[in-house]
Amino acid sequence: MSSKNTPYKTYLTEDEIPQAWYNIRADMKTDHRPILHPGTLQPMTLEELEPVFCTELAKQELNSKDRFIEIPKGVRDFYKMYRPSPLVRARFLEKALDTPAKIYYKYEGGNTSGSHKLNSAIAQAYYAKEQGLKGVTTETGAGQWGTALSMACGFFDLDLKVFMVKISAQQKPYRKAVMETFGASVTASPSNETNIGRKMLEADPNTGGSLGSAISEAIEVAVTNDGYKYVLGSVLNMVLLHQSVIGQEAVTAFKKIDDYPDIVIGCAGGGSNLGGLMSSFMAEKLAGKSAPYFIAVEPASCPSMTRGKFAYDFCDTGMTTPLAKMYTLGATYIPSPNHSGGLRYHGMAPILSQLYHDGFIDEARAVEQTEVFKAATLFARHEGTLPAPESAHAIKAAIDEALKCKETGQAKTILFGLSGTGYFDLGAYMQYNDGTMSDKTPTDEDLERGFAAIPKVE
Ligand SMILES: *Cc1c(COP(=O)(O)O)cnc(C)c1O
Repeated sequence: MSSKNTPYKTYLTEDEIPQAWYNIRADMKTDHRPILHPGTLQPMTLEELEPVFCTELAKQELNSKDRFIEIPKGVRDFYKMYRPSPLVRARFLEKALDTPAKIYYKYEGGNTSGSHKLNSAIAQAYYAKEQGLKGVTTETGAGQWGTALSMACGFFDLDLKVFMVKISAQQKPYRKAVMETFGASVTASPSNETNIGRKMLEADPNTGGSLGSAISEAIEVAVTNDGYKYVLGSVLNMVLLHQSVIGQEAVTAFKKIDDYPDIVIGCAGGGSNLGGLMSSFMAEKLAGKSAPYFIAVEPASCPSMTRGKFAYDFCDTGMTTPLAKMYTLGATYIPSPNHSGGLRYHGMAPILSQLYHDGFIDEARAVEQTEVFKAATLFARHEGTLPAPESAHAIKAAIDEALKCKETGQAKTILFGLSGTGYFDLGAYMQYNDGTMSDKTPTDEDLERGFAAIPKVE
C-alpha cells in the first residue's frame, strides 16, 4: 500500500457525501435481541414507540431489513454546511512517536456544536418537522448532543427543551449559552419540572444528576405535552444509522489515497461515533472479507463493555424506558464525581453490544482519565487540534497501538475517530494542567450495587 505520499488531509467533494445511510443490522449475523416493553416484556411495536418517538424514526429503529435508507434532500443539504469531514494523516504525531505506523483520524469536530452528534440531530429534527410537530425534548450530558440538537432545531424552526445533567450544567455554563443562542430552553436535571425529577430530588437533594435521570425527565415532558416527541443522541439503532455517514466517507477517502486501515479505534460512550466510524468497515467483516481489527475504548470509571453484564436493562435511571439487551453497569450506576472525561452512560448500544458479544468488535479497552488527558495533550501539541476528552480515549489507544508498532517494527495503518473538539472542556483541561485531576476506578463492590438493579429478564 502507498504510504509516503498520502496527503495530510483528504477532502471529499460535496457529491461524495453519502446518498443513503447504511443499516448494519441488515448484515449482522445475529441481530440484537429486540427491545422489550417494560410492562409486558414483549418486543416493542411501532404503535408502542410512536407516543414517544417520531414515526419515521421509530420505523428506522425497528428496521432490520433495508441495508440502505435514503438520506432526505433536506438533511443532505444541511450536511453540506459541514460535511464531508476530513480524513487526516497525523504525520506530526507519527513523527513525535517515532513509529512506523500510519495514523489517520476522521475529524467530526469541525462544526459549531463541536462533535459528530450533529449528524443524527439534523436527521431527527428533520423528521420531527416533517411530521408537523411543535417541538422535541431531550437530555444532554456533557452538552454536545443538546448543542447539536439546538442547531438542528433552530434550523428547522422547532421548539427544543433540553434537560442537562446538573453537574455538567454547573461545569459547562458556556454550553448552555450556545444552546440558548440557537433557541433551545435548558433545564438542569434533576429538576422540579417533572414527577420523576421531584422524586429524585427528594431522595437526594444534592445529586449531580445523571444521563439516565435526565432521559427520564425528557421523556416525561414529551409524552405529557401535545405536539412534542422525545429524541435521543446515542445508543439507539437510528442514531448509529445516521452516523454511518462517517464510516462511508472514511472508506471513500481511503480509496482515494489507496490505503486501508488495519485497526479502527473509537471511543465508546453510548456507541454512536464508533458505530458510525466502523459501519462500512464492519460490513466487510460481516461479509467474510479481510477487515480491520476493531477496538472500543471506554473510561475506567464507566466500564460498561469491559466490566459490565450483557443483559436486558433499562435505558434510564427512572426505569421507564423499554428494556434493551446490552452491556450495562445497571441503570442506577453513576460514575464517580471526579470523572470529567464524558462517556458516562451506563449501557452500550445494542448493535455494538451484540457485535462485541459475537466477536466482531475485537476488543474493548478501559483507560484512566489522566492517561487520556496525557494523550490529548500530546496530540494537541503535535497535531494542532484540541481534542474532546471523549475522543482522547481513542487517541490514547491509537498512540498505544502505534508504540506497539514501534516495538515490533510493523507499519500498520491505524484509523481513529476524532469525534469532537475540546473547546467546551477547558475546565477538565485546567484540572489536568494544574495536577488536580485524579483517577477513580470503581471496585467490584461499587459495580455490584449497579448490577443489583438490573432486572431479571432473559
Ligand atoms: C457524545 C460524544 C461521545 C460519546 O458518545 P457516543 O455515542 O459513544 O459516540 C464521544 N465523543 C464526543 C465528542 C461526543 O460528543
